[in-house]
Amino acid sequence: MKAASIVEFVRDTYKTDEFIPLHAPTFNGNEKEYVLETIESTFVSSVGKFVDDFERKIEVYTGTAKAVATVNGTAALHTALYMAGVQRGDLVITQALTFVATCNALYHMGADPIFVDVSPLSLGLCPKAVEEYLDEFAVLTEQGCTHKQTGQRIKAVVPMHTFGHPVELNELVAVCAKWQLSLVEDAAESLGSFYKGKHTGTIGEFGAVSFNGNKIITTGGGGMVLCRTQELGLRTKHVTTTAKVPHPYEFFHDEPGFNYRMPNLNAALGCAQMEVLEGYLSKKRHLAMLYQDLFNNTDFQFIVEPDYACSNYWLNAVMCPDEQTRDEVLAVTNKAGVMTRPIWQLMSRLPMFENALRGDLTHSEFIEKHLVNLPSTPI
Ligand SMILES: *Cc1c(COP(=O)(O)O)cnc(C)c1O
Repeated sequence: MKAASIVEFVRDTYKTDEFIPLHAPTFNGNEKEYVLETIESTFVSSVGKFVDDFERKIEVYTGTAKAVATVNGTAALHTALYMAGVQRGDLVITQALTFVATCNALYHMGADPIFVDVSPLSLGLCPKAVEEYLDEFAVLTEQGCTHKQTGQRIKAVVPMHTFGHPVELNELVAVCAKWQLSLVEDAAESLGSFYKGKHTGTIGEFGAVSFNGNKIITTGGGGMVLCRTQELGLRTKHVTTTAKVPHPYEFFHDEPGFNYRMPNLNAALGCAQMEVLEGYLSKKRHLAMLYQDLFNNTDFQFIVEPDYACSNYWLNAVMCPDEQTRDEVLAVTNKAGVMTRPIWQLMSRLPMFENALRGDLTHSEFIEKHLVNLPSTPI
């Protein structure tokens, strides 16, 4: 199969001669009306009915005990790690194959990453690889799970549901229980993705969702912390809103807090986008099936949802037969105005993490060299 036939297919599918982005937001619902309502009411900032409405809508849709809206997905993840009790000097297990925000959040908690391999099926953190790493390098002591060589506490495991495809969560839950680790899901890309009927981000102690402009639905910028219990949720809300103790006029804050609250203006957009989410999901699934047909019986391998999951197919992805073909596909498609992208460079290669601890990264390295993301705006 030639790169030119990918260009042809994408142009036929989107029916346009103009530039085709990787993923663009669409606003065909009540977005204007709700955003205008915040302006007319003057409640554009950190207090307003849309913030509460948006949180309730996410709770109902995902089934989480409590959802707490934040300014962006990175802030949601930062808060989730803080709430999970990650402390300065701790180690946190995550995947090398992820967007940098996952690692930035744990870095700013003062923690260091341990990079473990992904599963070639989900493209997300592999429970077997985590277990093997821990068996070899960790020991349970009084402080909990401890790295044998550095003596640091290993506090949490942060899987990321790559492009919306859920990782094997039951297996990760079991490893975390055995090793006394907190499970925090980076569900930034996976709103609308379910693992064995449960929404991603609701199985760990905390999950973090993003509503950045390129995600399945957007609030401009925004995020959400999904909390497993009501109690954790109330404390999460407290720390994201400067930890102010409610009082009609006094200022008293009972712990160091964040100002991570989502503005009402953004939440208004989110409420309107939630109304169209189901429609986006079915359009995305349809588009993914078209890509799947295109690559059927070729030496390209289209990434499909793992059989235990229902994916949102946020970003379509294909594995090229070799690195040279991958480079050719990227060059030809982008030159023709059809935007495609390689996957992220492994976190373990970035300057700030090049000395980080790591396990075997065979699958991550293979995917890094072969994968291309394809235009995925729902049509
Ligand atoms: C988008 C994304 C984030 C962060 O979201 P922002 O809202 O952009 O801060 C975190 N992790 C992953 C994997 C993402 O794709």
